[in-house]
Amino acid sequence: MEIESRNSSQKCKYCDCLVDDVDLDSLQCHECKMYVHVKCLKRGAVPGGLVADVFFQFTCCHCSPRGNEQFIRDKMPWLQAILLVLYHMQTRSPGLARKGYFHWKIHIAAFIDRNWDILFRKDFKRKKKWMGTVSGTLSHYSPHFFKSGTAVFNEQGWWTLTYPKLAPNVIVQLNTELMSEKQKLRETKLTIDDTQLLKGILLTKPYVTEEMLQITKTHDAPETEEVYVQTVKNSQKKKRFLLPTIASLSIPLPKRVKKTHKTDLQSKLLKKLSKSSVEDKIVETENVVKPAKFLDPMCHYNTSLDEYSCVRSLSMKVRLTGTVRKEPILSPYTSIYLPPYIRRDSKIRPSWLQLMDELKAKVHRSVPNWELPKRLPLDFVYIQPEHIPAINSLCNQFFWTGIDVSDTLRYPDFSCVVLYGKLIVAFAFVIPDVKFNECYISFIFTRPGWRKCGIAKFMLYHLIQTSLGRDITLHVSISNSALFLYQKFGFKVETVVLDFYNRYLRDDTRESKHAFFCRLER
Ligand SMILES: [Zn+2]
Ligand SMILES: [Zn+2]
Repeated sequence: MEIESRNSSQKCKYCDCLVDDVDLDSLQCHECKMYVHVKCLKRGAVPGGLVADVFFQFTCCHCSPRGNEQFIRDKMPWLQAILLVLYHMQTRSPGLARKGYFHWKIHIAAFIDRNWDILFRKDFKRKKKWMGTVSGTLSHYSPHFFKSGTAVFNEQGWWTLTYPKLAPNVIVQLNTELMSEKQKLRETKLTIDDTQLLKGILLTKPYVTEEMLQITKTHDAPETEEVYVQTVKNSQKKKRFLLPTIASLSIPLPKRVKKTHKTDLQSKLLKKLSKSSVEDKIVETENVVKPAKFLDPMCHYNTSLDEYSCVRSLSMKVRLTGTVRKEPILSPYTSIYLPPYIRRDSKIRPSWLQLMDELKAKVHRSVPNWELPKRLPLDFVYIQPEHIPAINSLCNQFFWTGIDVSDTLRYPDFSCVVLYGKLIVAFAFVIPDVKFNECYISFIFTRPGWRKCGIAKFMLYHLIQTSLGRDITLHVSISNSALFLYQKFGFKVETVVLDFYNRYLRDDTRESKHAFFCRLER
């Protein structure tokens, strides 16, 4: 983006109101050099919808040959990307932060990972060690632009913006000025430290406040870069419980209830086989017998069941339907606009539809020139509030009673719902960040008659893509053939959990109540 000094009488080309010098929340058309408020854009927001993201080569609708606004992503240096991400998260997801600080890996790197295509140009190479670059950049620009939370938490890795009120492009400008001042100093062989230099530059700005000048005096000691390189190395060695753990984030750990009576031979055998791992888990939760609690996002209540326990009487009142929205959905978890569709598919041929086609053909066999009506596509979408009643109803019917999946609306990015017209035929959910760098697949379900045609496979593929860079775990009943699908995707059985489904499944189920705990390492 080219930032040209603007005089205070600049007006927005679309609304004719003044363009504010301080918040700079406007784009400059690179043809006519006029400014346009982000809020005045014809498309309602910049591509990707990041707050204060003005890093585009923008052409306004009057200058564009086809009359539509054009956005070409600027080169995005790491400083700029991280400023943008922190500014966006502090505005849109302040709830994620810990006392205003975000974790470089859990929050910042994960956000960049999920939104890579929005942030960077297509030609920007994704290097293997880019996460190390993120932590390195944070340390490098500390304390001038990023503030470390080490002094606050006595724990490294937490960051916030030094000047939370300044938009990313304002800080980028400050940095450019700081660099050129330093260059001038080098030529004159004078030495002034960066803090003083930055203070000098800030003093020339109309937006400077007393508070900002105070900040420059009371910087925390910067964190060294080596610490972070070390952290990255460790995490690559699959040390899964690297700090911060869930405990340090004050999120309750999942608890499992111990089942005391095991009599059948199979249980005994399995216990022998997996003695150590199972006992570890049991000791940890001895005497913690709590009633089954649903809706706890940290509670491991995965099913991944192939068989359903029992089909209760099908009430006609049961709501089966959902809808597909046409507009993007704002995710409260990542503050990103999700597209209305993940995928549309007209090729998948579930046995249920084949059966229906055959029936229709039979009914109409005496009608001359009758043709099968065109089949609807299968829509793979993110969860939306309208889907909840139907999915809850399916869960209660096929799994166990009391399930409410409303919580998944808090992180729709990690969901996949499959619709045929308005009929919900499948769904799958991941709970993000159940542990540091670990997601958990809570439910995967496909209606009978719609199975074995690749629907679950695609949902799983989508969820794995969404959770890049993090381990994914799940429980699956030991008698469930879905295990083969998981293994195809690289999941490995880590432990056997006896009687895992005891408190969930109905007694008349044919499915084994023991589960494999599987992990896909990343
Ligand atoms: Zn305007
Ligand atoms: Zn223009």
